[in-house]
Order: sequence, then structure tokens, then C-alpha cells
Amino acid sequence: MKLHEYQSKELFSRFGIPVPSGKVVTTVEDIEKVSQDINGPPWVVKAQVHAGGRGKGGGVKVVNSLDEMKKASETILNQPLITKQTDSKGTKVHQLLMEEGVEIDRELYLAMTIDRAVAKPVMIFSQAGGMEIEEVAERTPELVLKESIDPDVGWSSYLGRSMVYKLDPLPSPETVRELITVMGRLYNLFMDLDCSLAEINPLVITKEGKALAIDAKINIDDNALYRQKEMKTLDDPREKDPLELEAEKSNLNYIRLDGNIGAMVNGAGLAMATMDMIKMAGAEPANFLDVGGGANEEMIAKGFEIILGDERVKAILINIFGGILRCDVFARGVLAAAEKNKIQIPMIVRLKGTNVEEGKKILEDSDLEFLVANDMVEAAELVAQQVSG
Ligand code: ADP
Ligand code: MG
Repeated sequence: MKLHEYQSKELFSRFGIPVPSGKVVTTVEDIEKVSQDINGPPWVVKAQVHAGGRGKGGGVKVVNSLDEMKKASETILNQPLITKQTDSKGTKVHQLLMEEGVEIDRELYLAMTIDRAVAKPVMIFSQAGGMEIEEVAERTPELVLKESIDPDVGWSSYLGRSMVYKLDPLPSPETVRELITVMGRLYNLFMDLDCSLAEINPLVITKEGKALAIDAKINIDDNALYRQKEMKTLDDPREKDPLELEAEKSNLNYIRLDGNIGAMVNGAGLAMATMDMIKMAGAEPANFLDVGGGANEEMIAKGFEIILGDERVKAILINIFGGILRCDVFARGVLAAAEKNKIQIPMIVRLKGTNVEEGKKILEDSDLEFLVANDMVEAAELVAQQVSG
């Protein structure tokens, strides 16, 4: 679950990580009121959306007067924001963060995440902040420093020193101390809130030598939300892909991808294998959809609707291994969905397992048009043929 920058900054404050003074507004009318509480001008107007790269996309604007602030706010609120992380249509901005403009001397990068390779939390620090860290890692990997942390031992400031002392040039001893303090607090926040990511990019050193979090990004591990009740209240469903939201409501495991083959599969392992097969056949999956072992007719129908609700989908591959989910139940779900939605794209079906004959018969006796594949390789090849050329 992703948090907004302003929510993340409130949590930063709670954990003692310094942030600029700021306020959230949803309308231009509120601006005059809140501006009195924010140091400045200059001020900075920042679009609150889950997508990153807002600066380059016009979602972060420095302003020098109340008038300018209102104009910039109007522009950002009234047109979709397009960044490297949104699709070409962009995303609507519902909220703005009004912030004090900070005089920046240096932009650093600091984050906590989980390093799956070593199965430990890891701190990542770089003096090349402000930019996208993936690019820095690609071009100048020596500038990305990492320290994994044993959660049984916890944070120790020597880990921070070993990274901060590599800064070139080295900041003043007071700034060095502040940076290491921020690191320890970010570790505490990351662990206490069950984060999967806590990122400060940029973590700046101001002209006065203060460490300050200028941007803030927190993702909470979905699997921990049951015990992070307060975090759960910070969810903003407006930021989610509408199809992913629909899927979530029906307990379906759905992730949108970039391709054009809609895949309907039961079981996460089979879903991943199916996506690999689609790729090996030279096509690209439009989604990951695992209807799960215990799916009922309704869930299947919903899954089907979600795939069909994605206008990029040019062909559908159904790959079901009937175990707990019997093939006949599955087939009836497909029919229920087909009744509601006119299916005008090719459909390839591969069914195996419990009640497979019954399932096939239900599909064959219907008016549905589909191709039957005998195995996964054939299924992937057939579906790839439908979208090639
Ligand atoms: P994003 O990562 O989405 O582009 P950031 O919050 O990192 O958004 O802002 C982009 C850039 O804008 C920062 O790297 C920084 O240079 C500048 N910036 C953002 N907020 C402030 C602020 N309060 N004061 C001064 N500069 C800022
Ligand atoms: Mg940033």
C-alpha cells in the first residue's frame, strides 16, 4: 500500500526526521489561509499522486508570491499529470502540498527496503540524490552504498558512519551527525510501520548545513496491514488502477502489465508459468490474474469482466488446472461472464484436472467461440498467433 508524500512526511515528523513546513489543500480557495502557516515565499506547490517523477512532469513548482501559488495550483489541479511513471493519459491530481521553499546545497538519496537476496532490511545511501536511483545504479554503481541490517541486532550508528564518511566532499561534523541520526530514525520508522519501502529522495543538506527530507515515499507491506490499522486508514483508492481496485474487492489477485494477452489462471505459480510461456511464444501478457484455488463462479465471472474491461486486450488465454477449483465450476463462471459481456476477441482454453470433461462439455455446448489447446505450449503459441501480424 502506497502513501502520499504529505502522509509520509507526517510520519517522518513523528519519528523525528526533519521535513519542511507544509500543508495540504484540495482547492485553490484554501491556499490563502494555509500560506500564513508556511515559511516563505518562496514556496513549493507539489502534486500529491502516487506516481513519482513529478518534478520533471510539471507536478512540482516553485513560486514566489501568493498569486503565483494560486496560478500554479490551478494548473496542476485542472490537467492530468503525466510523468515517467504514469501512462500517456496521466493521472488526476486531487490534492496539493504547499511547502516552504528550501535553499538546497546538496541532494542525497536515502532509503530503507528489504534485500530479498540476503533476506534482510537494507539501507541504501547515495550522494547522487534527486535523480532516479535506478539510473544512478546503472551508470555509476559505485555511488550507491548499501548496508544490510540484522533485525535482531538492530540499527547501529557505525553502519551510518561507514556510508556517510564516503561523501565527497565530506560535510561538517554537525551535518554528518544529523545525517546519521536521520538514518537511525528512518530504520525505526521502516521497522515499526512494517514498510516495504521508506525513501527520501532527495534528502538534502540545506545552505545552513541542515539535513532535511524534501521528498518522502512510504510503502506499507500489504501483508502487515492487519496489524497496521492506522496505516490502513491512509489508503487512497483514487490513486489505484480502477481494474485493480475491482479485483481487490472480489479477492482476485490481479496486476496490470503492458502487453495485450489477457491471461486467466488459477494459482500464482501456474499464473507465472503461463506468463513465461506467453513471452516465450513471442507475445506479452496484459495482466497477471490468479483467480485462486477456492474461486467460485462469481469470482471467475468477475475476473473475466476485469480482463475484458481492459481495452488493450486482444486475445485471452485461459489456463486452468482443476484441483479445488473444479473445471465445471470454472466453465459456468466463464459462461456467466460471457452472457454479460460480448466477447469479440479470440479465446484459447486449456483445461486440465478435476471434472475436465464436464467443464469442456459446458463450454462446447455454449455459443462461445474458442480454441482448445491440449497443453500449455500449444496454448501459448495459439494465443500469440492471434495477436501477431
Ligand atoms: P519527484 O521525486 O516526484 O520529482 P520531489 O519532491 O523529489 O518530487 O521534487 C523534485 C525536486 O524539486 C527536488 O529534487 C528538489 O530539487 C525540488 N524541491 C521539491 N520540494 C522542494 C522544496 N520544498 N524546496 C526546494 N526545492 C524543492
Ligand atoms: Mg523525489
